[in-house]
Amino acid sequence: MTCIFCRIVAGEAPARIVLADEHVLAFHDIRPAAPVHVLVVPRAHVASLWELDDRRLAGHLLFAASEVARLCGLERGFRVIANARHDGGQEVDHLHLHVLGGKRLGRMLAPL
Ligand code: AMP
Ligand code: ZN
Repeated sequence: MTCIFCRIVAGEAPARIVLADEHVLAFHDIRPAAPVHVLVVPRAHVASLWELDDRRLAGHLLFAASEVARLCGLERGFRVIANARHDGGQEVDHLHLHVLGGKRLGRMLAPL
């Protein structure tokens, strides 16, 4: 198995787990971009949001992101990001939501 997130889901690669349920796993990013930086991934391999065809799984992922925010005490605010495919800057080809917080995050959406 070559997908690093599948290996984490299978318990074959280390991760600092924040939340785990039947459908999703959440763990700390190894190169945090904020004081809190957690990734939420489906247990099943889905390459990116482009390939996601399961509405219920989509709900599980987003709800897990909100649970991560509460578990990590991000009541001041947080951001959820999904990079998809080449132009989206996706580096790991297993769907994941980034949950970022713990500081005031800069604006990302500047006008063209
Ligand atoms: P993306 O650019 O959206 O594909 O983000 C991939 C993220 O996965 C990056 O923030 C990496 O730091 C993170 N990452 C890569 N390998 C691991 C790993 N083994 N454990 C935790 N996070 C990882
Ligand atoms: Zn995978």
